[in-house]
Amino acid sequence: MDYQEISRGAEAIIYLSEYHGRDAILKVRPPKKYRHPDLDLQLRNSRTKNEIRVIRSARAAGVRSPVIYDVDLSNSCIIMEHLKGLKVKDILDEHPSEAKEICAKIGEIVAKLHNNKICHGDLTTSNMILDDDGILCMIDFSLGDTTVDIEEMGVDLHLLERAFTSAHSDIDGAYETIIDSYRKNMRNAQAVLERVENIRSRGRYT
Ligand code: AMP
Repeated sequence: MDYQEISRGAEAIIYLSEYHGRDAILKVRPPKKYRHPDLDLQLRNSRTKNEIRVIRSARAAGVRSPVIYDVDLSNSCIIMEHLKGLKVKDILDEHPSEAKEICAKIGEIVAKLHNNKICHGDLTTSNMILDDDGILCMIDFSLGDTTVDIEEMGVDLHLLERAFTSAHSDIDGAYETIIDSYRKNMRNAQAVLERVENIRSRGRYT
């Protein structure tokens, strides 16, 4: 494969690719040699299928996320739309003055997911892209799920808070702006936020 590799994680490799003349992203889950080959393929494919299912639900809920162009389950690959824009992590690092506007959008998009019973599973600013039209897009739903309950939504927000306070601790009030916006846009925000408190206290004593 002579596509350019742009990212390599524990589970997947991301290449810049092309699909019928359109810029695309190829996400491949390579085999793990330490697993039995049958089990390995089954695991990689269930994760691939889960990611596609959650992306499709997110898109149906109006959350901007990549269009799935093609899937190859014999190699555990997804070809998807290449979302053009800037990674939110980089914007916040380089232009912290834009934090308020972006954090309001983050609260809104997470509320949209949760209102539709979808959790992302890995809410970090590296998985958010602000496109050229100022629309916040979400990527990497590999740990996401649908028809979730308050607990999973609480875990989602708790992880976001932790990711935010470690990656952007220098930006005052950023997480609070996210939560204000989440409250305004999420139907059952109070119940989720109470659950976050509960999850936090469980974390303190275990
Ligand atoms: P992932 O393993 O899905 O978290 O992707 C790793 C990195 O690849 C992300 O942080 C992005 O920089 C990039 N990436 C993945 N999918 C896309 C996409 N659909 N559009 C643009 N960039 C992407």
